[in-house]
Amino acid sequence: MIFIFLGAPGSGKGTQATLTAEKYRLTQICTGDILREAVQRKDALGLKAADYMTAGKLVPDDLVIDIIEQRIERANCKRGFLLDGFPRTIEQAKRLGKMLKQRNRALSEVFYIKVEEKQLIRRLTGRRICPQCSKLYHIEFNPPKRDELCDICHIPVVQRKDDSPEVVLSRLEVYRQKTEPLVKYYQKKDMLIPVEGNGKVDEIFREISQKIDGFLPGN
Ligand code: AMP
Repeated sequence: MIFIFLGAPGSGKGTQATLTAEKYRLTQICTGDILREAVQRKDALGLKAADYMTAGKLVPDDLVIDIIEQRIERANCKRGFLLDGFPRTIEQAKRLGKMLKQRNRALSEVFYIKVEEKQLIRRLTGRRICPQCSKLYHIEFNPPKRDELCDICHIPVVQRKDDSPEVVLSRLEVYRQKTEPLVKYYQKKDMLIPVEGNGKVDEIFREISQKIDGFLPGN
C-alpha cells in the first residue's frame, strides 16, 4: 500500500496521515517534518532549505526528491508507506512515478483533503507547536490544558514562523499555483479520492479507513 495525502497547508492531511499510518502499520514520510528537523540540526540539507521555508516557498524539487528516494529504500517502507506533503509539484509527481516504476511498485490511491480557504487561514494562524516534542495545538480548537504550556513537556508552545499571517497567505498562494494542479493530474490517472476535510477528525478518518479497507485483499 502506497498512499499520498494531498491538501492545502492546514487541511489536516498530516493528522489523517498519522492516524492512517498507525492503523495500517505503514511508514509515514512527511517532507515538512524531515526538512524542519534538518533545519534544526543545521545540516547541509537544513542550510539549503531554511530560507525557502521561512518565506513559505517550496524548497527546490531536487532536494525533496532526494529525500524521498532515500526514505523509500529503507526496510520500514517495504510493507507500504504514505507520503504526507509530497509531491507538491507536477515535476515531483512525475519523478515519484518513475521512482516507483523502477522499483516495480505502484501508487495505491491519492487522498485529497478539501478545506475552504477561510477555514485554512483560521486553522494555520491559530496553530501552535511544542518546540520540544512537536505536538500540535490550536489556540481556539485545541488549546494546551494550562497557560499555553505543552501538556507533555510543560514548556511554552510557539507559533511556527511560517504560520504567521503573512507567510500563511504566501503558502496558500504557492499551494494554488504549484500543488493544486496535482488534483487534476491524479484525477486523470483515476487515483484521486476526494475527502471533505471540514468535519471532525474521527469522522474524516472513518471515511478514509473505509476506502482503504475496500482495497485490502478479500474486499
Ligand atoms: P509543511 O509542514 O508540509 O507545510 O511543510 C513546510 C515547508 O517545507 C513548506 O512550506 C516548504 O517550504 C517545505 N516543503 C515540505 N514539503 C515540500 C515539498 N514536497 N516540496 C517542496 N517544499 C516542501
